Amino acid sequence: MPPDSPRSDLLGLEPDLLQQELERFFAARGKPPFRARQVVRWIFEGDAQGVDDMTDLPLEERKALAAAYELREPEVDTVARSSDGTAKHLWRLHDGELVESVLIPAGDRLTLCISSQAGCAMGCTFCATGWGGFRRHLTAGEIVSQFRASRRWAAEEGYGPITNLVYMGMGEPLANREAVMSSLTILNQGYRFGARRITVSTVGVVPGIRELARRPEQFRLALSLHAPDEALRRELIPLEKRWPLPEVLDALREFDAAGGKRITFEYTMIDGVNDDPSLAPRLATMARDLRAFVNLIPFNPIPYRDWGASPPDRVAHFARVLEERGVDVAVREPRGRDIDAACGQLRAHALVQVEGRRGAPGTT
Ligand code: SF4
Repeated sequence: MPPDSPRSDLLGLEPDLLQQELERFFAARGKPPFRARQVVRWIFEGDAQGVDDMTDLPLEERKALAAAYELREPEVDTVARSSDGTAKHLWRLHDGELVESVLIPAGDRLTLCISSQAGCAMGCTFCATGWGGFRRHLTAGEIVSQFRASRRWAAEEGYGPITNLVYMGMGEPLANREAVMSSLTILNQGYRFGARRITVSTVGVVPGIRELARRPEQFRLALSLHAPDEALRRELIPLEKRWPLPEVLDALREFDAAGGKRITFEYTMIDGVNDDPSLAPRLATMARDLRAFVNLIPFNPIPYRDWGASPPDRVAHFARVLEERGVDVAVREPRGRDIDAACGQLRAHALVQVEGRRGAPGTT
């Protein structure tokens, strides 16, 4: 597919806009509106991979449609499968950029972790994607197409249906707000993927959190917290300088006040960096205030840092302090280590529960 293809990508349009666009297209050709509905059905329910698949459209209409539009599916660059069932796809986009998504089976769940940007500009010091720098934003269609292509692959390979979706791959989703918000609408209204099974993860982009709070759907939110203290957090997450923790927590209060919207704190535990026992009660207070679920994640080393994971007894201590203060907590471990399934934020978050506590959104 040429990188400068002039055809519009139908996969990036929200359902009502898609319907309108197609009705206009067929009306201009003197065709009835039901032709538009047929195409919409092929996209959301029929999993058409191209206009040619839409076999109940007359050949002439298919030709005209294909001249104006495309269904811009990513190409598979590589697939890696872990011995634990985790499967990582490296997708090649139409302009050659590469992004990753990861399928994580766990019990009766199949979680798909998707990317929202090629690379990332946030520069979090514990994250491989951050070290790699920013390439570009993904379009809504490129975000959604990771879901479509992964779902197809999972069905063919006997993985079953995708039950949970997490925006925890490459990129900061709320730094690519317009496309991410649109992709949420497309997944929820178009593909009928339940809002409460979709989690958006952020390092603290306040306007994005507020926008999510105002949305009527109950999408879930995960905050990459990693430190309950501003100065320490600034060392790990440069964005803390722009939106300090008190502002982020205010935005989360708005999210919580909207009702029925669950918040998770992600806390990657790095030996000697953010695992001092004195931090645990502060983390507990913060979580209790927002009724947030806490994921404690032993750090998974990255090539650019000589940091290591916190020892198990320190992780257990944090978990105990949180539990004693009435906070729901899970200790998690990375999946797909043998295929290096964790990309960037995935490295920190593509995880499953290893202790039998209550389930959390996302990957449990
Ligand atoms: S943790 Fe997320 S926001 Fe931070 S650099 Fe990595 S991908 Fe970007």
